[in-house]
Amino acid sequence: MTAAQPKPATASETFDSLNPATDEVVGTYPIHTREDVEAAVQRAREAADWWNSLGFDGRGERLRRWKGVLARRLAQLSSLVHDETGKPVADAQLEIVLAIEHIAWAGKHARKVLGSQRRSPGLLLSNQAATVEYHPLGVVGVIGPWNYPVYTPLGSITYALAAGNAVVYKPSEYTPGVGKWLVDAFAEVVPEQPVLQLVTGLGETGAALTTSPGVDKIAFTGSTATGKKVMAAAAENLTPVVIEAGGKDPVLVDADADLEAAADATVWGAFWNAGQTCAGVERVYVHESVHDEFVAKVVAKSREVRPGSDDSAKYGPMTMPAQLEVIRRHIKDALARGGRALLGGADAVGDRYVQPTVLVDVPEDSSAVQEETFGPTVTIAKVRDMDEAVEKANDSRYGLGSTVFSKRRGLELARRLRTGQTAINAPLSFAGIASLPFGGVGDSGFGRIHGPEGLREFARPKSIARQRFTAPLALTTFARKEKTDVLVAKLTAILHGKR
Ligand code: NDP
Repeated sequence: MTAAQPKPATASETFDSLNPATDEVVGTYPIHTREDVEAAVQRAREAADWWNSLGFDGRGERLRRWKGVLARRLAQLSSLVHDETGKPVADAQLEIVLAIEHIAWAGKHARKVLGSQRRSPGLLLSNQAATVEYHPLGVVGVIGPWNYPVYTPLGSITYALAAGNAVVYKPSEYTPGVGKWLVDAFAEVVPEQPVLQLVTGLGETGAALTTSPGVDKIAFTGSTATGKKVMAAAAENLTPVVIEAGGKDPVLVDADADLEAAADATVWGAFWNAGQTCAGVERVYVHESVHDEFVAKVVAKSREVRPGSDDSAKYGPMTMPAQLEVIRRHIKDALARGGRALLGGADAVGDRYVQPTVLVDVPEDSSAVQEETFGPTVTIAKVRDMDEAVEKANDSRYGLGSTVFSKRRGLELARRLRTGQTAINAPLSFAGIASLPFGGVGDSGFGRIHGPEGLREFARPKSIARQRFTAPLALTTFARKEKTDVLVAKLTAILHGKR
């Protein structure tokens, strides 16, 4: 047994991961106990020192090899993602390809972002050399979701590893097999130490990770409600957290928008992955002058979209059966309060699959507009101008992503939206750009993954001031002369006293 393989689980209980299209058992995994999790964290502490000692180049090389494994076994991993989530194989492939881009970016840019950087010492302390460098935190606990079981957890795992941390990863109980695949692939290229470990189980295993002594940060992706629990539990040990929670992402369609492109983006953004996308489209606000034409296009395009588990299906079953009830409740509430379903509706929710549902005239305070539906539904509302669109889009406790379709005012409208990221004239483009940070506002969470900000999220700044020569003005000594104080006062007036 190599050091990278955690000791056999002491857990005697197991749980099954099921194919949501068939209920067939895809795999059986241990329910790791608190003791198992704490032991994994202890192993990670030792591994972290070794991993950090490899330096940026050593770690970059291992990350490069890891992405190579993912790229070469793309078909195998896509098939496993399909089995555990139900999403089409091509969609599984897309999320893996994007994750590979992130591994490549993080490995390549870690030194530039986190390595030693010179800072100006300022005039008064010009005898000092000021530098800052970013050190790893130590051990990062990652709690992942099931909707994008490769792309989403790797958004934290990859950046934490590139920053020099060891990681203990708890995947969702719906996708433990994908989590195991990723961790095993990493152990192939890093066999020396358990730098990336897997713990499996239900919510309690995640809770144990959150409060394990020796965890230096928790990166959580999932619902806002569980995010609050994680944050409260982590507060016990003053463990910092990154919370990537849900969204209620809006699309704004301006009078001069390319309606064909806007309708295409709305349909894909709303129904892709059966709507189980944190930054998926859930609400649309359309300028009144183009509303009817836009709605007609959305309905026509939505008719072409069909769920199923066959090769031509555009999206799969709901991964988490409990979600069906949430979607049903939101649609019913919308219809009961005057909304109309132009496609789908109350009958759209089946035992496993939900048909595409396009809702109009839905009151803004209904659950279908206010709460995260996480299903293949979309509400479309008419607005008199784009000011009203911005106001309504921002009237949400969530603030994850948003999309603007406008030829002339895209940037202006994007800046006014209270969300972590906005795509202009294309759906979700920010998620594929590895150099851009990703994260939320309000109930969508806080902290950032991806990009330089994502690397720094898993590192602590270390400031170093080195005296290069004795200061002409000795300030930090009891031997300071009165004339020095007079000179400092004069200098300050010259430098900062201008009216
Ligand atoms: P949860 O927020 O309950 O779960 C997310 C992760 O947290 C899972 O790995 C889960 O483990 C784990 N977990 C659960 N309870 C705890 C706890 N007390 N302490 C630490 N970790 C815990 O989401 P669900 O998967 O149940 O989905 C519920 C809703 O969340 C969805 O309807 C959707 O609205 C939203 N969601 C949003 C996502 C996003 O990307 N923003 C992703 C997933 C869900 P386990 O799965 O084993 O219970």
